[in-house]
Amino acid sequence: MSQTPLAFGLLGFPVKHSFSPAMHNAAFKELGINAEYKLFEIKPEKLQNFLLSLEEKGIKGLNVTIPYKEKVLNSDFIEIDEESFYARKIGAVNTIIVKNGKLKAFNTDMPGFSRHLKENISPVGKKVAVLGAGGAAKAVVYCLAENKVKEIAIYDIDKIKSQNIVSLIKSSFNDFPISAVNGIEALRIQEKELLINTTPIGMKPSDPCLITEKMLHRNLFIYDLIYNPQETKLLALANKAQVKNSNGLGMLLYQGVLSFTHFTGKKAPVETMRQALKKELEKCRK
Ligand code: NAP
Repeated sequence: MSQTPLAFGLLGFPVKHSFSPAMHNAAFKELGINAEYKLFEIKPEKLQNFLLSLEEKGIKGLNVTIPYKEKVLNSDFIEIDEESFYARKIGAVNTIIVKNGKLKAFNTDMPGFSRHLKENISPVGKKVAVLGAGGAAKAVVYCLAENKVKEIAIYDIDKIKSQNIVSLIKSSFNDFPISAVNGIEALRIQEKELLINTTPIGMKPSDPCLITEKMLHRNLFIYDLIYNPQETKLLALANKAQVKNSNGLGMLLYQGVLSFTHFTGKKAPVETMRQALKKELEKCRK
């Protein structure tokens, strides 16, 4: 008799355009694990009940996306211990596991971003500009401070959000040189060595490009967290100006690799997961 597969999935609202099922299901298959990764689109008013019923539903682990990365931490039945260091520091989680009847939360966005950024550029001593101060920016900026960049300027249309990130960083890294600025010009990209886009601007074909060509220079590296499309208008501009750059597919891969290990206790098959993501991207281009 065949056993019911273990259930994992992505919790969010909405969660329609996700590559995570393809990536995790390919990994389960590769390792011969009888498990299935699904999408859980849960309305805000149903969130608490959903989290309370994970065991009953046979769900062993979740990734968490917009708009719940911070919200799930308000549930007092979610544990954040020493192992969940980054979730505690950043105040946002993207991974939950169900263990011995308890829910434990982790943040793998931060180490996932760190691993991929360092494959492209050494952040140590760099002057950095960050666009956007939402959930992902917290992980990005924490990573930059931990990796001893020289200075960070951050801009978000909502200044309170960028000021909150400044406070978060200053409370963890004494006197770290980080400032919330009032506009894109004030990021002074011409003087920076690394520009990171953490806004969703660039996902839709109708989105504008937030940066102009005159801000770019050959000493700059641009990292766009967006991975679909592979080449956003920002990255197209970078390519045109021969500025080195990367999209966020590697971050997606490495956060998934770390989540997979939390889910299963096993080393993730990185190449299988990378190929699964590439296939998903190909499908989107057709
Ligand atoms: P989020 O929490 O909504 O944050 C985005 C932030 O950008 C918000 O504070 C938003 O302000 C701000 N913003 C929007 N338009 C702006 C503009 N024109 N100028 C300056 N700031 C602007 O979203 P998130 O979870 O951080 O995700 C952001 C992006 O990163 C998404 O595209 C997501 O797909 C991507 N991401 C990728 C990975 C990966 O693995 N590669 C992981 C996480 C996220 P308002 O809220 O006021 O609009």
